[in-house]
Amino acid sequence: MDRRKKVLITGAAGFLGSHLCDMFVKKGYEVIAMDNLITGRIENIQHLFPMENFEFWHHDVTKFIHVPGELDYILHFASPASPIDYLKIPIQTLKVGSLGIHNCLGLAKAKNARILIASTSEIYGDPIVHPQNEDYWGNVNPVGPRGVYDEAKRFQEAITMAYHTFHGLETRIVRIFNTYGPRMRLNDGRALPAFIGQALRGEDLTVFGDGSQTRSFCFVDDLMDGIYRLLHSDYEQPINIGNPSEISILDFAKEILDLTGANQKIVFKDLPLNDPKQRQPDITRAKEILGWEPRVKRSDGLKLTYEYFSKLGIEELKETAHYNFDNYILR
Ligand code: UDP
Repeated sequence: MDRRKKVLITGAAGFLGSHLCDMFVKKGYEVIAMDNLITGRIENIQHLFPMENFEFWHHDVTKFIHVPGELDYILHFASPASPIDYLKIPIQTLKVGSLGIHNCLGLAKAKNARILIASTSEIYGDPIVHPQNEDYWGNVNPVGPRGVYDEAKRFQEAITMAYHTFHGLETRIVRIFNTYGPRMRLNDGRALPAFIGQALRGEDLTVFGDGSQTRSFCFVDDLMDGIYRLLHSDYEQPINIGNPSEISILDFAKEILDLTGANQKIVFKDLPLNDPKQRQPDITRAKEILGWEPRVKRSDGLKLTYEYFSKLGIEELKETAHYNFDNYILR
C-alpha cells in the first residue's frame, strides 16, 4: 500500500494554520503541526490530538527544523498576521518571515518536498492600482508600522523564488487577502473580531478614520479550497486568493450590527498610519489557472463566524473588554 503523504504545517495553531490542519487530516495526510504558540492557540487544534495522522510539535520555526524520514509538502503559515501583533512583536515578525522561511526552504530542499508559502495582499501596501493583480509591485513604506510584516513577506516571496530558480525547488506562493471565519482571535485588533467582540459585550463599535477605506473579505473555507488547488497545481508564480466583493469598513460595521442585532453606536477613532485606503483582489489568474473562485456569500460566512464567537465563554469576552484601541494608533 502507498504510504500516506506527509505534510508539515507551520503556524498550525493559528487561525489559518488550524483550518489547514483540519483539511489535511480529513483528506488522510500525515500532518505535522508546528507552532511556537506566540500568537497561535492550542485550543484551535486540540480536537485533532486524538487523530492518528496528526502530531503537534511545539517548536519555533526560526530554529533548525529536523523532520525524520520522508516529507512531501511544507506549508509555511507561521507569522503574526494582524497590525496589532506587528506592533507588539515586530522583531519576531521579521524573523519568522526571513530566518523561518530560510529553514523551511532548506528542509524542503533536503527532503525534495514541495513548499507553499503564505504571502499576503500586504505586499501591495497602500495600492495605487485597483483592483490588485499579481503583476502590480506594490506601494509599501518599509519603515512604517506595517513595514516589518510587509517587507518580511516580500522577502519571503523573493527567497522562495530564488530557491525555485537556483535549486529547482517546487514552490507555490499564495497572496492571501483579508480572510475571516471561526478561530480568529478575539483580541487581534482586526476589524471583524473587534466589531463582533464589541457587539457581544455591548460596547460601541470603533471604526478607524471615516470608515471609507475598503476591504474585501473571503470566508476561510474558500481560501482553504484555493490553497489546496494551488498546492496541487504546477504554477510557480504568485497567485491572489481572496473574495472580490469589496465593502467600506463603515458599511461592514453596520453589517455586523445588523447581524448581531446589537443597537450600539458606531464611534470614530484616528486612522492608523499607513492603513491601506482600498483593497480588492483581481482573481482572474486563480480562476484561469486553478478553476477557483469564492463560493461563500459574506452574509452566510458572517453568520457562521458570529455563531463561533457567540459560543465563547464570558471570560474570553471579558479578556478583551479593556483593550485600549488608542495603543493601536501607530504613529
Ligand atoms: N478597523 C477599524 N476598527 C477596528 C479594527 C480595524 O475600523 O476596531 C479598520 C482598520 O483600520 C482597517 C480595516 O478596519 O482599515 C481592516 O482592518 P484589519 O486589521 O481587519 O485588516 P487590514 O488592515 O490588515 O487589512
